[in-house]
Amino acid sequence: MKLNERGLLVIISGPSGVGKGTVRKALFEMEGHDLVYSISMTTRPQREGEVDGVDYFFVTVEEFEKRINEGKFLEYAKFVGHYYGTPKDKIDEQLAKGKEVVLEIEVQGANQVREKAKDGVFIFIAPPSRNALYRRLLRRGTDSKTSIKNRMDKANREFPLAHKYDYIVVNDEVRNAADRIMAIIRAEHAKTRRSIYKYKEMLEVE
Ligand code: 5GP
Repeated sequence: MKLNERGLLVIISGPSGVGKGTVRKALFEMEGHDLVYSISMTTRPQREGEVDGVDYFFVTVEEFEKRINEGKFLEYAKFVGHYYGTPKDKIDEQLAKGKEVVLEIEVQGANQVREKAKDGVFIFIAPPSRNALYRRLLRRGTDSKTSIKNRMDKANREFPLAHKYDYIVVNDEVRNAADRIMAIIRAEHAKTRRSIYKYKEMLEVE
């Protein structure tokens, strides 16, 4: 029995190339969960194999900036020349329904969410080493040499920010990392501050 009936806002963040996307997908493939993925909006060009409305909502800079002005993002950031943002609508509704809403976002965006959603669960995904991250970016083959260098420089500035997070999960093996995140979600639900109201209610009924 889950005492905390409200869903959790789970923020998965960390340097680009660390495997946040792969870990998130593995997490969603696990059984018996109530996770919903918050699909981000971006101005970056669509990569081969990506589906609009599934991987991202791909929009123009004009459309993105219009939405910024309308206050439609929970957070947004410019990352290596492109905008990325989390649409605000529906997040609260999903949380109220007991769904865990998962954001997979870079570090600047996570900082903004931290200011707005104190109740969020902040998870920093770390690579097993700096070298492992570099090899991953190279292997991914979706980025140009300049983009890889930019992403690596950025990652080096982001590594020390892990201390701001509630949890650090090393992505040594995708499956292990996803298992750890699931364990974190379960443990968070059982936290006294999330469960105490329902617990008290239960005591009164009996
Ligand atoms: P990529 O271009 O590789 O898909 O994503 C680049 C970076 O942007 C990744 O670190 C990814 O997690 C992050 N990202 C994706 N969606 C969002 C978002 O909505 N907001 C922010 N701040 N970052 C995002």
